[in-house]
Amino acid sequence: MVVRLTDTWTEILRRRASNSSTGAYALPVRDMLGEMVAAAALMQANIKFDGSLVLQIFGDGPVKLAVVEVQPDLALRATATVVGQVEPSATLSQMVNVTNDGRCAITLDPNNKFPGQQPYQGVVPLFDDRKHKIEKISELLEHYMLQSEQLDTTLVLAANESVAAGLLIQRLPVQGSGNLSGSMVSKENEDQIGLDEHYNRIAILASSLKREELLTLDVETILRRLFWEEQITRFEPLKGDTAPRFACSCSRERVGRMIVSLGRDEAESILSERADIEVGCEFCGVQYRFDAVDAAQLFTAPVQQLDGGPVPH
Ligand SMILES: [Zn+2]
Repeated sequence: MVVRLTDTWTEILRRRASNSSTGAYALPVRDMLGEMVAAAALMQANIKFDGSLVLQIFGDGPVKLAVVEVQPDLALRATATVVGQVEPSATLSQMVNVTNDGRCAITLDPNNKFPGQQPYQGVVPLFDDRKHKIEKISELLEHYMLQSEQLDTTLVLAANESVAAGLLIQRLPVQGSGNLSGSMVSKENEDQIGLDEHYNRIAILASSLKREELLTLDVETILRRLFWEEQITRFEPLKGDTAPRFACSCSRERVGRMIVSLGRDEAESILSERADIEVGCEFCGVQYRFDAVDAAQLFTAPVQQLDGGPVPH
């Protein structure tokens, strides 16, 4: 599977750059987040999960959080929280894993949860089995897929100011009617990890793809260069509303509910110091403002009913 995001990615960067409270991303943060965006789009498209896929890195360095959220229709949004300075030459570990306390989490949050159902979440550290710090998002996610999904995965990721791109190669579990190699049916999938010669050959070819090639070449050329000796069948590329694109799910109503959850005292305390309660969306940069009248309305019956809580007096 190949993804090449241009408009979607530049839209995310443009919104960040025009957010006066944050400003544009430092370059290493931009490239890290772009690789995460490409990877998350690939993973959601690959598993076709009926719910949101959220890829997060909780950092122990200047990047405290990097998050990408991809909906089943591949609408996506992303943001990073940066505290302090990120050097232009910063490596992945210098941004998010200075003391080996950084974590990567993948959450699958179903759209239609049955009562009490929790989202599925897998968490891995940012070091490998020998405690070496992982320096590439692709390596981190390959490690994750092998540990949690028991799947051989090869990822090549790259991002710059105009493109976020990725190539994902995965060996599908050899089970059931979809199995392409009859002799494998009876074997456990796990037994084949790292051993399947076809997967290994394709994976090695895929890994030879250079960052620069992934950023600059079109998909047709990439596939021809990498797999010129293989027989390739291409699926129709996703376009328009079926392709990955930027969309933010924030709303004034949600922000209102968040203010209600702070409580009336807290809301009034903010309003005693300033004219508005102002909440900015980290993902799209929209600023929501609630003045004293708006806030008073939040704490009256209709919203309380929505919230299901008692009306405070
Ligand atoms: Zn938003």
